[in-house]
Amino acid sequence: MNPIHKVDVAILGAGTAGMAAYRAAAAVTDRVVLIEAEAYGTTCARVGCMPSKLLIAAADAAHGAQHARAFGVDAPDVRVDGARVMERVRAERDRFVGFVVDTVETFPVHHRLLGRATFLDDHRLQVGDPSDGGCVVEARSIVLATGSRSRVLPFLEAAGDRLIVNDDVFDWTELPESVAVFGPGVIGLELGQALHRLGVRVRMFGVGGFVGPLSDPEVRETARSVLNAEFPLLPDATVRHVERVADGVRVTWELDGELRSEVFAHVLAATGRTPNLDRLGLENTTLVLDKRRVPVYDTETMQAGTSHIFLAGDANADLPVLHEAADEGRIAGENAARFPNVLPGQRRSPLSVVFTDPNIAMIGQSWDQVKDRKPIVGRVSFDDQGRARVMRQNRGRLHVYADRVTGRLLGAEMVAPRAEHLAHLLAWSHQQQLTIDQMLAMPFYHPVIEEGLRTALRDASAQLVASQATATQSNSTNR
Ligand SMILES: Cc1cc2nc3c(=O)[nH]c(=O)nc-3n(C[C@H](O)[C@H](O)[C@H](O)COP(=O)(O)OP(=O)(O)OC[C@H]3O[C@@H](n4cnc5c(N)ncnc54)[C@H](O)[C@@H]3O)c2cc1C
Repeated sequence: MNPIHKVDVAILGAGTAGMAAYRAAAAVTDRVVLIEAEAYGTTCARVGCMPSKLLIAAADAAHGAQHARAFGVDAPDVRVDGARVMERVRAERDRFVGFVVDTVETFPVHHRLLGRATFLDDHRLQVGDPSDGGCVVEARSIVLATGSRSRVLPFLEAAGDRLIVNDDVFDWTELPESVAVFGPGVIGLELGQALHRLGVRVRMFGVGGFVGPLSDPEVRETARSVLNAEFPLLPDATVRHVERVADGVRVTWELDGELRSEVFAHVLAATGRTPNLDRLGLENTTLVLDKRRVPVYDTETMQAGTSHIFLAGDANADLPVLHEAADEGRIAGENAARFPNVLPGQRRSPLSVVFTDPNIAMIGQSWDQVKDRKPIVGRVSFDDQGRARVMRQNRGRLHVYADRVTGRLLGAEMVAPRAEHLAHLLAWSHQQQLTIDQMLAMPFYHPVIEEGLRTALRDASAQLVASQATATQSNSTNR
């Protein structure tokens, strides 16, 4: 018989969400346990945000050196040393992971449990192997913060041992000769462009025309064309065949009625992520699941139905970015500890960034979410933007969406130089519920990329004036 640990709060997963939930719950009760199935260190530090940005940093250094000539600066014989690139990626990654592990080790030992957790019923969890030192945890409330994993589409399995996911890339000791990237979403675009800049032959395949998370057709088309000018990006490819051959994987696709094929050293599956909920034994609980098999939950309290179970981070299949995982973890941990007194937590304006060059970013509501309101769309192209041209980064487009009546900023989509920073200004303005004119009243230095944003805001402002004049005129005509 496995020993039974009785606690107030059990948290499944010691990732970003789980650690935030743990801190919040441990502030209220000592009867808390943080359960981790694998190694400590988080997805972000081990195989996510940090190693991907390390690879991109190396790629940008290579790209800068290769293009220095256009500024009159000769950097002859730029050579990428794949072994040294990957050595730095792994060393810095290990350093970030080390900080996380050090933090977890400051949590009291009696608060930590290593082993995979599965539900026996609504309140009881089996942790680890029942026949090999496992235990049962009985919890008054439970936080599911089990994260997500790469989803691999079945047809890619034909690539056999040459099929990889993002996790594998960061353990490379050398750069491969070539990679076919499937999925031009956030992860595919970031890794694909970085590998291309590091000298790896890359071709990227997608379906449905998607480019990152963008939903605005004009912005998406600009992103496609800018990125496709740098490496082959087929966002709506008809892939006919994937086959393991002697020297790699042959991919055959159809373009303009013609079959083409190329052999790649690896196939990278970046075709989305699946929440780690399917192996939790949710069928042993009374939780109500939606059609994706995710428990129905409230995005302000993180509570599943009216139950004592809370969901946080990538596990809930919504807003899979780090700062949201941390917020959701905190809210879930607080509510789990004070259950049944559940309160809504503070959520922020949506903000997401893809670290391609140029960056892709979205804030507030997307075009798909606002288009039916027929918003004002303020536009700017960065093709002739002063500072962007100075830096030879004059590519991209930014659209801001404003409410036709109140003039409030509703959202924005962009592919633009340094959009990671523009997106923050816009997200902060969105959260403050500023109008376009209030944003234009802020200072803009010269010459900066933000002047491009000002052009889009001015465009929106002029349209707002015209739209309001038309509305006033039609009101007085109707009187
Ligand atoms: C390549 C890549 C790049 C990214 N880049 C960015 C970026 O630049 N910016 C950004 O904001 N976000 C980025 N993200 C997303 C970000 O990493 C995630 O949103 C975040 O890490 C999710 O945290 P989490 O706590 O939900 O999950 P995780 O950190 O994955 O934690 C979940 C934990 O649960 C454990 N677990 C699973 N099942 C069980 C079980 N049954 N019992 C016990 N433990 C279990 C897992 O082992 C894991 O440790 C990126 C992701 C990837 C993959």
